[in-house]
Amino acid sequence: MHQVVAVTQRSAVERPTAAFVLSLLAGIFVLTGGVALGILGAVATFFLAGVGGVIGVAGVIFGIIIIVSATRLYSRPEEHTTWGVIIIVFSLLSWIGAFGGFVIGFILGLVGGIFALVFNPKPVGLTSPPRICLKCGAQITDPSVNFCPNCGNDLRISQK
Ligand SMILES: [Zn+2]
Repeated sequence: MHQVVAVTQRSAVERPTAAFVLSLLAGIFVLTGGVALGILGAVATFFLAGVGGVIGVAGVIFGIIIIVSATRLYSRPEEHTTWGVIIIVFSLLSWIGAFGGFVIGFILGLVGGIFALVFNPKPVGLTSPPRICLKCGAQITDPSVNFCPNCGNDLRISQK
């Protein structure tokens, strides 16, 4: 019961869940891509003490930045523009040092970042409750009408 209440309260502020999930997955793919490239580089330069492994470091860092941005985006939805831009930029950068997160990470990051940018945080509860005609009791679903569609009662007067 307590958990149900907590969930209800948390959902009072709309969160960019889709953007968060996509960006988080993108970060994981980019991170993995960086690790893979690092291992590949290290193996390829085995006789040079594996210095090639360094090339994957950038990919790992980019992946971590994308993951952190995704969690920030979720905890602070009002900063969605900032985190959206960062996620897109580092998804593009993931082509350096992370194979673009196996391409999938790049695409997920791009879509997630765009979702974050266009996200419109609007607290639930600000929308006006449905009006009810005081004359006939009909529920007015269209908020723009001034007259009751059922009996023609002037709603502007009856609301006051
Ligand atoms: Zn009416």
